[in-house]
Amino acid sequence: MTAPGARVADVTAVMHKVVDAMPVAPNLVDYDTARAQFSWDAARARLAGLPAGGVNIAHEAVDRHATGDAAQTAALRWLGRDGTRRTLTYAELAAETSRFANVLAALGVHAGDVLFMLAGRVPALYIGVLGALKHRVVVSPLFAAFGPDPIATRIRRGEGSVLVTTAALYRRKVAAMRAHLPSLSHVLVVRESPDDVLPEGTHDLAALLAAASPVYHIAATDPETPALLHFTSGTTGTPKGALHVHAAVTAHRETARVALDLRAGDVFWCTADPGWVTGTSYGIIAPLCLGATLVVDEGDYDAERWYDLLAREAVTVWYTAPTAVRMMMKGGSGAARRHVYPALRFIASVGEPLNPQGVHWGLEAFGQPIHDNWWQTETGGIMIANFAASDIRPGSMGRPLPGIDAAIIARTDDGVRVIDEPGVQGELALRRGWPSMFRTYLHDADRYARCFAGAWYLTGDLARRDADGWFWFVGRADDVIKSSGHLIGPFEVESALLAHPAVAEAGVIGKPDPTVGELVKAFVALKPGIAASPTLERELLAHVRTRLGPAVAPREIAFVPALPRTRSGKIMRRLLKARELGLPEGDTSTLETMA
Ligand code: AMP
Repeated sequence: MTAPGARVADVTAVMHKVVDAMPVAPNLVDYDTARAQFSWDAARARLAGLPAGGVNIAHEAVDRHATGDAAQTAALRWLGRDGTRRTLTYAELAAETSRFANVLAALGVHAGDVLFMLAGRVPALYIGVLGALKHRVVVSPLFAAFGPDPIATRIRRGEGSVLVTTAALYRRKVAAMRAHLPSLSHVLVVRESPDDVLPEGTHDLAALLAAASPVYHIAATDPETPALLHFTSGTTGTPKGALHVHAAVTAHRETARVALDLRAGDVFWCTADPGWVTGTSYGIIAPLCLGATLVVDEGDYDAERWYDLLAREAVTVWYTAPTAVRMMMKGGSGAARRHVYPALRFIASVGEPLNPQGVHWGLEAFGQPIHDNWWQTETGGIMIANFAASDIRPGSMGRPLPGIDAAIIARTDDGVRVIDEPGVQGELALRRGWPSMFRTYLHDADRYARCFAGAWYLTGDLARRDADGWFWFVGRADDVIKSSGHLIGPFEVESALLAHPAVAEAGVIGKPDPTVGELVKAFVALKPGIAASPTLERELLAHVRTRLGPAVAPREIAFVPALPRTRSGKIMRRLLKARELGLPEGDTSTLETMA
């Protein structure tokens, strides 16, 4: 394999791996045999299972290790923004999460209730998520950069009865809305310091934990018990709540083993925020299930600090995102090469297309290529991947994991047709039946049903499969926006714009951007008599930013006399996008490849 710092002329050429030369034998050396021999039943049998019966994610992630050989192994190594370090062994994490489960029990919170988590990457988040799962409470993570509106919409839709957050986030984003969140019975807050005043109507989480018992026996958990509620964006209506069950842990564990090459003893760093599905499935659950040490970095992206962290913490497996890779690439590989990474064995990325240059940049900067993989909120775990032991076709998402059947399909009047010819673009579909497949969209069974055609789950992504079975991402089949790896529903942004008194109509698109993938751009038609001006533009940007938060708000606004609509009145976002990109208006087919 190429040495760090080397440049490669043809970045699209197949990157060959020599398995025998690898210092640690990778998992999944023989892809075809592994696929042929794989069964989810066998994977299920590798779980510990709950002593009381059934399967519980928190037992697989924490308690099974806390009573075994890994009890004194570091489960969580937390690196605080201010340089503080806190390490929790599996035994300590088991005790802390049990305290949390006992806190919920004492508050009268029941199995099946929904707990929302709104916090940065602080230890309480990890303790809260796993403790709630012990008590069979459904956990719904919220992105801490959301503004008050998306937070309130999700808590209302999920009928959340508990919120865990920080005192600062509560004051800034929730307090004013509290009266409009009738389901919310308990708010547990983390105070930044002892002088941080406890907001009215909240409990001090640290005090409750200190008073709770560190022993909690998880009750029998039917594998189909709801566990995680992840909100994701569609193009219409309110965000969709994808519900996952405890049985998903079979896939969390298995997919991390084969797609991330993770195992006990690894030091694993997932840069995804736990407010999103990657940050939960792989940023909390999967590495713990395998007995690895989870590095949690509270700080924000900073290339120099990241390189230092990878080297200093001796990270062995690193899971990151293309936006971060592109940002690092901007600074060149020199800064990365000022450190050495002898421990680093495997790098993967997810969430957006990783271009061939990104794959090679990993090799240049860290001595390891970056392995792209694909999945989405609904699938609960990685479905398609470039594996540690396999050659890489740069630009491809890889091949389906053992236990996963993927196909390219075309929708027809009476169902779907599988496209067998290689190289033909169609919708990516997965044969239903893997354990982490979502079980419903909350309060929207019809929408859930529409995701399936016969045996196939339809992903909403467009892709191609080559003659050797590698999958290549083409684009989204709908108007959902991917910005910095976060899925954004145009409808949510349009609704916030329409709440401003000057706005008559709003249409929102993803505008291709070399760093963040797509940036949110809004087209706005003003009410009669209101004139467009730079001041109004700034006012609208601030209005949406305050409501939705900086991660979701538009970066650009264009004023237009009216928005193009279909005969039935739907905004033609594709046409807006075509105009933005200067494409012929009749031909929006090329848009997908530009995302
Ligand atoms: P989310 O549900 O927020 O995780 O977003 C899932 C969507 O992100 C997928 O449906 C794809 O559109 C996109 N996505 C995820 N991984 C990849 C990848 N490796 N390449 C291209 N797009 C991806």
